[in-house]
Amino acid sequence: MRRIQAAVLRRKGGPLRIESLEMEGPREDEVLVRIAASGICHTDISYVHDWYAADDGPLVLGHEGAGIVEQVGRKVKGIRRGDHVVLSYESCGRCRPCRRGRPANCLRLYELNFGFRRSDGSNSLQRSGARGHFFGQSSFATHALSTGRNLVKVPRDLPLELLAPLGCGLQTGAGTVMNSLAVPAGASIAVFGTGAVGLAAVMAARIVGAAPIIGVDIIPGRLKLARELGAAHVIDSRREDVESRIREITGGGIDYAVESTGNAKMLRLSMEVLNPKGTVALLTGATGPDRLPGGRKALSVIQSDAVPRQFIPRLISLYRKGLFPFDRLVKFYDFTHINRAIADSRRGFTIKPVLRVSDA
Ligand SMILES: [Zn+2]
Ligand SMILES: [Zn+2]
Repeated sequence: MRRIQAAVLRRKGGPLRIESLEMEGPREDEVLVRIAASGICHTDISYVHDWYAADDGPLVLGHEGAGIVEQVGRKVKGIRRGDHVVLSYESCGRCRPCRRGRPANCLRLYELNFGFRRSDGSNSLQRSGARGHFFGQSSFATHALSTGRNLVKVPRDLPLELLAPLGCGLQTGAGTVMNSLAVPAGASIAVFGTGAVGLAAVMAARIVGAAPIIGVDIIPGRLKLARELGAAHVIDSRREDVESRIREITGGGIDYAVESTGNAKMLRLSMEVLNPKGTVALLTGATGPDRLPGGRKALSVIQSDAVPRQFIPRLISLYRKGLFPFDRLVKFYDFTHINRAIADSRRGFTIKPVLRVSDA
């Protein structure tokens, strides 16, 4: 048993309160990570404001943790005390998609990431009456338990607090363009919603040589950043007619769309502006109609088909070359200011809040 500090959600809408909890483990198949920093992702905020139900019990959220390995269970291979790591989504490692190297399609993905328990049903925070293991981590805490499968070793010369958000939002946005859609050079793309996920998609679209890249949003500051990060055109959907602007820019429709707003009107538009055989990636859990006219496709993307151990190091190397400047999206907050960080993100003031949890 050890004492940890964790931000606990006890009622819908919050606030989260930092409490002292007892954590059991690590078990022989687990790794204890001292969390240095954690990004706040849209999914965390959805839990606080929309999805939390009283019978969930007190929850510890957070799924973009980064930190230093403190203890390694004897059955975990390839990870050592002192390693710098980024935590990503959890998978079972045993089912057929996992064995074939496609953890994003894990058959147990939902229960392992949203079940707030280990795969055997136990919960390391039981003694304190709270529930952890969110995305195999619960990183809004000074310590997190990982199975090792969702750990990615990262270089020591880059600050952990910068690398934290690579575990979910940025990986999802970039991976959608580079893996799920595999956008080729010269293809046109529109990104609906230029928050953290959408801006990562814009940067990735520039990396693969897509053209033109069009950003659509309602917040002028985010549209300005989209332009700086690679969008040749931006559309303020509150002030301009999105469809006619896209037709004007491309002389027709677009080849690829990334829908990250979850807004019903944008969802419909993202399909309507597609060229025949065009594809839209839906990132908010929405599913499109099975069949769209003209050979158009709608993909419901989960974790962007990325294998974190391969994709996160790739994003880090693109960052080093100046091609994936995700540091421009990040704003740091002290752990104790977690509620302000969430509020700033909801209002669109901050694109990617990152909590400084402990010195590392
Ligand atoms: Zn699996
Ligand atoms: Zn996330």
